[in-house]
Amino acid sequence: MGAARTVTGSKHLLDAGGHRVLVDCGLFQGLKELRERNWASLPVRADSIEAAILTHAHLDHTGYLPRLVAQGFKGRVFCTPATASLARIVLEDAAKLQEEDAERANRRRYTKHSPALPLFTEADAARAMRLLQPVGYERPMPVVPGITVEFINAGHLLGSSYARVNVEDTGKTILFGGDLGRYDRPVLPDPSPIDAADVLLVESTYGDRVHEKDDDGHRLASIIRETIEKRGKVIVPAFALGRVEELLYWVQTLEDRREIPSVPVYVDSPMATAVLAEYRDRLHELDPEISERPNNNGHRQAEKKLIAFATDKLKVIQSIGDSRRVQESSEPAIVISSSGMATGGRVLHHLVHALPNPRNTILFAGYQAAGTRGRQLVEGAKFTRIHGQDVHVDARIEKIDAMSAHADSNEIMRWLRNFKRPPAVTFLVHGEPKPMDTLKARIEAELKWTVRTPGHLEKMDI
Ligand SMILES: [Zn+2]
Repeated sequence: MGAARTVTGSKHLLDAGGHRVLVDCGLFQGLKELRERNWASLPVRADSIEAAILTHAHLDHTGYLPRLVAQGFKGRVFCTPATASLARIVLEDAAKLQEEDAERANRRRYTKHSPALPLFTEADAARAMRLLQPVGYERPMPVVPGITVEFINAGHLLGSSYARVNVEDTGKTILFGGDLGRYDRPVLPDPSPIDAADVLLVESTYGDRVHEKDDDGHRLASIIRETIEKRGKVIVPAFALGRVEELLYWVQTLEDRREIPSVPVYVDSPMATAVLAEYRDRLHELDPEISERPNNNGHRQAEKKLIAFATDKLKVIQSIGDSRRVQESSEPAIVISSSGMATGGRVLHHLVHALPNPRNTILFAGYQAAGTRGRQLVEGAKFTRIHGQDVHVDARIEKIDAMSAHADSNEIMRWLRNFKRPPAVTFLVHGEPKPMDTLKARIEAELKWTVRTPGHLEKMDI
């Protein structure tokens, strides 16, 4: 019911032994025709779904939950403890943005809808959060009679997992891959190997691409250095979940190595700030390198919580007033602000000020879905419309794929090669048609597996 030949809206309905379980409950983002699906009701009654499972907290995997609850879903929502914490932050923030955007659209009358309504409210989100049921990694848990789930670390985000679902009746194991993380990256562990499943669902976001080689932060360093030398700002529209931590890790590392001058780094996103706190509280779930970081003098840190993700001049912005001062200031700085595809959030205010000035750089650090402002800018748009006004684009636009949280095509293949016997069928999900079809051809050619790429609302008998 989502992420079928597209990258957002992840929702897979499992109907087995007279029970319905929804795996992931994501929002559609990007193109208008996709976003409109968020307003439509599901093709099945929400109260016929008995339980839900979340693979990780990203909005395209959790953001429909308040809508599901508003339509009558009353079951439990199983996920890892970190996913539960992050999902609370994400849903509350999303509800607030929805309400603010609707309110602003109505006030400035640039909506075609009268009045513009939020997709869900903070009250809807709060009701959804009460259903969250945290379960630790690798602890099989019954979700409905005859169906159990086990979460396995996917290395894509703090708390991220594959959901290994076992259907007792048939003895079949279905591995819902969620989003697949990457190998040999800082901050997060490698994706766990899996050696068997009867049915596999795997993402294909970068199914036709290989990420640029990890250059040990050199390109990031030169972008920051060149911008700061011109006395400009580096604005990073950040996916508040996960990317901010990796970016801070790199800025901190480059400062330590003296590859960049130490400049103020502003994290201007209440959500990113809350997420950063979760990462610091759960260092034990991250890549071992994080907790063993040496400090400037080369000593292992005793107080590791104090230093993880802390650059030299890190400032966490709390108030709108402080945010405005940074937007209007011409002091060289790095500003990290959500949302990552520049579709909403405080980063839009920074962009209004920063885009018309060639001294500044807008640096995109994650996937930019079709139809988003981020994609427009990366593709060279000269104007972009923000809050009903045309903004001229004169700033330098850069994109670093190396920081993606999604496995590329080689990494997906590396992960698939862990299987000791092929799944009876592998469904590709979470990809736009071209990457998905390219990956399908590659898996068929190199592994000789049976691969399907179901369309939206297509039913598959397994
Ligand atoms: Zn994700």
